[in-house]
Amino acid sequence: MHGGVGGDSDEAARAKAAAAVAARAEAADRTHEVVILGAGMSGLCMAIALRRAGIDDFVVIEKSPGLGGTWWDNRYPGAQVDVPAPLYSFSFEPNPRWRQRFAAAPEIQAYMAHCARKYGIGPHLRLGRRITEATFDEAGGRWLIDCDDGQRLRARHFVCSTGPLSQPRWPEIPGLQAFDGPRLHTARWDAGVPLQGRRVAVIGTGSTAAQLVPAIAPQLAHLGVYQRTANWVLPRLDRRYRAADRALARLPPYAAAVRAFWYHALEWGRRGFDEGRLARRGMLATAAAHLERQVPDPVLRERLRPPHALGCKRLIYSNDYYPALARPQTELVTEAIERVTPRGLVTADGRERPYDVLVCATGFDVAHLAQALPVTGRGGRRLANAWRDGAQAWHGTMVAGFPNLYFLLGPNTATGHTSTLLYIEPEVRFALRAMQRVQREGRRWIEVRDAAMREHNQALQARLAGSVWAGCRSWYRQGDDGRIVALWPGFTGEYVRALERADGALFELG
Ligand code: NAP
Repeated sequence: MHGGVGGDSDEAARAKAAAAVAARAEAADRTHEVVILGAGMSGLCMAIALRRAGIDDFVVIEKSPGLGGTWWDNRYPGAQVDVPAPLYSFSFEPNPRWRQRFAAAPEIQAYMAHCARKYGIGPHLRLGRRITEATFDEAGGRWLIDCDDGQRLRARHFVCSTGPLSQPRWPEIPGLQAFDGPRLHTARWDAGVPLQGRRVAVIGTGSTAAQLVPAIAPQLAHLGVYQRTANWVLPRLDRRYRAADRALARLPPYAAAVRAFWYHALEWGRRGFDEGRLARRGMLATAAAHLERQVPDPVLRERLRPPHALGCKRLIYSNDYYPALARPQTELVTEAIERVTPRGLVTADGRERPYDVLVCATGFDVAHLAQALPVTGRGGRRLANAWRDGAQAWHGTMVAGFPNLYFLLGPNTATGHTSTLLYIEPEVRFALRAMQRVQREGRRWIEVRDAAMREHNQALQARLAGSVWAGCRSWYRQGDDGRIVALWPGFTGEYVRALERADGALFELG
């Protein structure tokens, strides 16, 4: 009886919500086949795939005033990719212009600009615009998308390619707002803040800090590096590409061989995350020798020994991080930060150190990404609610209850061992095939079945529970010790095959 009464009022609420959605659909300014959110590597890859498939009716909405995504945001000094550049290019668009093996951020932006030009993506870009609301209109089988410039769009398919590392995370340290000088986050770098001859504090010692610290150290009067947890550091096998290398890279068989070499080398490195493997023993020995060689001071060396298992947090590849810490003008501070004062930082031992500039290299808020995506699926289901206890999807791509919505680099697709582009490309092909299937079969929508998504995630979490990544705090997790929501635990080939061979029965069409 109660159920019946509740059912009626639920029914009425649903009808009211559906009427509101229908009214919004009426008011849409433009209709597109596809709307892509985010103009980073994955959004760009999707846009290119659509154009190559002859689908021209799409727009890419991007909050920043330029193309690049993470490479637009992360323009701190020293920003570089940490996988070999031959693997950090699309398989269909090799880049013979890389100037060094680990390409710097501006080179990557230039590569992205080249791809956008070559594949005619420019006219599809809508820069400096945010999506404020995206709601699936069940009656019309389309997404209704509101932008902050007041425009309303309607699209059959919605591709969400914001990436896991798009929201900077500021540390929760009392008094942070009270600091008198400039306060920077590495992911929103302000190149207008002068550093020359100043006293600078860097909070955080992850991959970003390991690139920033050596890049700024030589120009500073004093650098305080605040380390909460020491990280594993491996040598960076960098080298400059000379004219002869670049000439060879123009030969397709040579470029393919170099790419294949790095692909297999990094896949082999994935074994380094499993106990007892030769690759792991090799990485441990290399990291220990690197620390020994680069940090002669035994006291400093001990403070740089990681307390967690190798690979638990993202590994750092650097030849200049340790030497930058050993400079006389650099102080490694390992006491916990108690508070920020207008003048500087106070540590748990009560000591205050004065600084002119405060830099937070404190990473990204992955756990609350869903809150930043105002997405409503079937039956009024909010993505933020569906992901309350941590994001999940089917192989990071589709979420049950959210038809025609495709994530690129979605939950559990980050990799600790190789190029993220190797994951983006199969995801893009998967999304394109799904879109084409909807069209071919004359349907309005496609969605992953709830049971398929659950089964995938149960198996994934069981596998992650016994893995190296379960042993420490990192951005791979939901909160400090929650589920691992960001990382794919397997080899690349395994992930690619799962997407390429996805059984049609895993999906529902309407
Ligand atoms: P991160 O790995 O999350 O590191 C954040 C750092 O800030 C950690 O050392 C963390 O300490 C520290 N921290 C956070 N809150 C703190 C607090 N309240 N007090 C003191 N310390 C605090 O972030 P990231 O270095 O920006 O790197 C994120 C990811 O971006 C990387 O893992 C990588 O995937 C990617 N990335 C890639 C590249 C590249 O390809 N070149 C470069 C940079 C970043 P704890 O360890 O104790 O939490």
